[in-house]
Amino acid sequence: MVMSLPLIHEPPASTFPHDYWMREAIAEARKAGAIGEVPIGAVIVRGDEIVGRGYNLRESSRDGTAHAEMIAIREASENLDAWRLLHCRLYVTLEPCPMCAGAIVQCRVPHVIYGATDPKAGCGGTIMNLLQEPKFNHRTELTAGILEEECADLLKQFFKQLRHK
Ligand SMILES: [Zn+2]
Repeated sequence: MVMSLPLIHEPPASTFPHDYWMREAIAEARKAGAIGEVPIGAVIVRGDEIVGRGYNLRESSRDGTAHAEMIAIREASENLDAWRLLHCRLYVTLEPCPMCAGAIVQCRVPHVIYGATDPKAGCGGTIMNLLQEPKFNHRTELTAGILEEECADLLKQFFKQLRHK
């Protein structure tokens, strides 16, 4: 299902608003929560098509790199048969950490949209902004705070339940 597209860095427009795709990322996050993982989810969208999905699997896979974004990136690269995700938007419920921000830059994702900010590891402007570092060879467009409350609530509820156990 790989269509050849002209080499433009602006992703093709989606007919749906950011909220719509963030809800898909939230649905992924809920899958993580349902199996006892910290509920963080991501989707990668090209035009109106989801080409990669992922949710946090750090505990079940015993892999500290199994973040939602990394899993979604691997799936999108496989689906698009390319390491450059030039025509894609990445939606994630939580601001990317340094590892994921690094992967996003490496994969040339042109636009990242996140929900909640992460005061502990956020590298989309909170602690630092690796996604828009002028010294790197690639920078992403960045949109923060889409369905922020809903994304943050997922995490709050999860940790609240954890404390009750
Ligand atoms: Zn990460």
